Amino acid sequence: MTSDSSSTPGPPSPAPPPSAADVAQSGSPAGSGARSPSDSGNPPGSALCVERGLASLRGLSVGDALGSQFFVPANLALLARREVPAGRWQWTDDTQMACSVLTVLAAHHRVDQDALVASFALRHDFDRGYGPAVNRLLRQVREGGDWRELAGALFKGHGSWGNGAAMRIAPLGAWYAHDPEQAAHQAEISAYVTHQHPEAVAGAMAVAAAAAFSASPDGPPTPLALLDGVLSLLPHSAVAAGLVRARDMLDYDDAATVAAVLGCGRRTSAQDTVPFALWSAARGLGDFEGAFWTTAQVGGDVDTTCAIVGGIVAASGAGAPPGRWLERTEALPDWVPAGS
Ligand SMILES: [Mg+2]
Repeated sequence: MTSDSSSTPGPPSPAPPPSAADVAQSGSPAGSGARSPSDSGNPPGSALCVERGLASLRGLSVGDALGSQFFVPANLALLARREVPAGRWQWTDDTQMACSVLTVLAAHHRVDQDALVASFALRHDFDRGYGPAVNRLLRQVREGGDWRELAGALFKGHGSWGNGAAMRIAPLGAWYAHDPEQAAHQAEISAYVTHQHPEAVAGAMAVAAAAAFSASPDGPPTPLALLDGVLSLLPHSAVAAGLVRARDMLDYDDAATVAAVLGCGRRTSAQDTVPFALWSAARGLGDFEGAFWTTAQVGGDVDTTCAIVGGIVAASGAGAPPGRWLERTEALPDWVPAGS
């Protein structure tokens, strides 16, 4: 998310109907029937999970850092030519929060909501471009506030529908490569600590599930299978409706037209961000550079759309970012779990 957006990532009146978010406002994980991480596949917290999470996080950070370069007007001519700017590319809030997600997974082998929001608050860096509501919420958490009350009270009690829960979550999906359903469930839990509107939650679930499918031990799926797989795990929502349209437009080659239909984050809402990002990621599996340029060139909330796409595409081994791009990108902080 960019802090300079004039739009407000919260819903207008009237109030949305009760939903799964209501469950989480009490702090309890939703979906009580879901399996625990230990029920499936690789042992949680295994070195392989960490490696997959880090691979996605590196891609997310490159997408975020390089994408944010194109908010600089002087770089727009480079964007048109698909050329990268010189110098060091600093990542933004997308990467900073994703680092907390992976760190909490490594420590708890699941999403611990209190630990996650504590890490968000501890690592909060005002200069990384957080949205105004999250800036305020994390300050209040640092001062002893309860995230359950604070996140639930945002936007007149509707909760935020911003894209902030989706932008940070791809590494979690890569972690659960063996279990997309669990990826979506853990993403749902993770969203509530800052974003309690059902659309923001659905956006996070969609991105995590997409990254899980991308990171599949059997290799990434076809674009259509990826979007169908994600849709099978989503609640009824505007995000899901957008993904249905994205699926119907997989054969469109004009990304600008697709972005005009689906949105590309100009409203910084989950439903305005996630469908296009997943359309671009699905078509760009195995091709980090191509996916990046397609996403960046349509504009919008470019650091976040490119962070989402980068995190999903890099979750598969074939989709790693180019080494020369990784070298230009600011290094991940030293508190992120190290790979083997
Ligand atoms: Mg950002």
